[in-house]
Amino acid sequence: MTADKLSTYKKKRDFKQTQEPSGSTEVKPSNRLRFIIQKHDATRLHYDLRLELDGVFKSWAVTKGPSLDPGDKRLAVEVEDHPLDYGDFEGTIPKGQYGGGTVMLWDRGYWEPEGSKSPEEALKKGDFKFVLHGKRLHGSFVLVRMRHNRDGGKRTNWLLIKHHDDHSVEENGAAILDENLTSVASGRTMEQIAAGKGRKPKPFMMASGDAAVISIRQRIRQLDV
Ligand code: MN
Repeated sequence: MTADKLSTYKKKRDFKQTQEPSGSTEVKPSNRLRFIIQKHDATRLHYDLRLELDGVFKSWAVTKGPSLDPGDKRLAVEVEDHPLDYGDFEGTIPKGQYGGGTVMLWDRGYWEPEGSKSPEEALKKGDFKFVLHGKRLHGSFVLVRMRHNRDGGKRTNWLLIKHHDDHSVEENGAAILDENLTSVASGRTMEQIAAGKGRKPKPFMMASGDAAVISIRQRIRQLDV
């Protein structure tokens, strides 16, 4: 089931070229649902929101990044499900590969569904409310699926909106992005990650130590062409 969900993810990538996880690594079991946000300096800078559900990360590319101002509606383009081990990925995807560019772990933590519907039902309905308990983002949000897609329906577009609560702000909702320019996992800047310098990210999805083993395995796989 999980393998099936990841077929699009795998089809888009050549794991001999990219350091991204192939989804074959078991992650730490968790009795809470995890989420991560990756800042991704690809063709266009965006923030990837990934929420753990049914063994994968449901994923959206938030073009301008999340805002804490409920007046801001942020375009969130639905993308393919990602494997849970992606939640520890920080590094640079080579140019020419899908999503080529530098990826930073910008936030991570836990989330819970809000409301009476199951998250699966809420997603299906296109009205998905949830609460984030991250290092940087907190409180209630909603993803609302748009009825009309601007590019002929090739993509599924949603809007990410902050609900009014103790964590919402009235203005400068995007200031949180400018105030937090380092990785939650390694403390590095985008420049340091791009240069391959500084500390390795501290794992969150995998037991500590696993991340290093995986990167060695990936190296071996890359040599084994
Ligand atoms: Mn991305």
